[in-house]
Amino acid sequence: KLIAIEGIDGTGKSTLAKNLYNALKEKGFDAVLSFEPTFGRYGKILRQSFTSPERLSPEEELRLFTEDRREHVRDFIEPALKEGKIVVLDRYYLSTIAYQGARGLEPEKIRVENEAFSPRPDLAIILVLDPESALRRIEEKRGETPNSFEALDYLRRVKKIFDELDYPFIQKIDASKSKEEILEDVLNIIIPLATE
Ligand code: C5P
Repeated sequence: KLIAIEGIDGTGKSTLAKNLYNALKEKGFDAVLSFEPTFGRYGKILRQSFTSPERLSPEEELRLFTEDRREHVRDFIEPALKEGKIVVLDRYYLSTIAYQGARGLEPEKIRVENEAFSPRPDLAIILVLDPESALRRIEEKRGETPNSFEALDYLRRVKKIFDELDYPFIQKIDASKSKEEILEDVLNIIIPLATE
């Protein structure tokens, strides 16, 4: 089974992905945890670009995310699924739809391009939080002070696209709840899926 954790920055995706992975292992499931962008050759370029003042063009960013994912799917995700593992992902292609869509690219086109080689998740959790609280959390927890106006405006556009996504495999969860509550909600959705 393939489980993707999605949402804007500051919603607690990485925390949930780790907690979920640990809880599944503890319950005896054969789970693996991974994330995007990866540490592969394309992912590395993307990570460098996030900390550089010169942002890549939306087209170049989309190309790198797509190539990064192509390798991730081929070398990690598909082999693990074939072995019957539960694959927990901290970001997957819904993030690309929302983030690169928010930079002006066509969300539907990004989806079609990605689904041509990426298996659909059995479950995508979208953590939902207003961008103001999300930015506040980033500032408090990571001690970063992003350029607030620009960051807020961008996250609002990213969130709008996440809000508009509506597929049967998507479940939206209120990310203002405690991490314990969120984990419990998510486990209640996943355990029936994982044992079916
Ligand atoms: O998942 P994480 O928070 O580590 O993401 C790293 C950065 O990548 C974030 O700042 C996020 O805004 C950005 N990102 C992006 N486009 C994506 C996925 C993530 O710009 N498709």
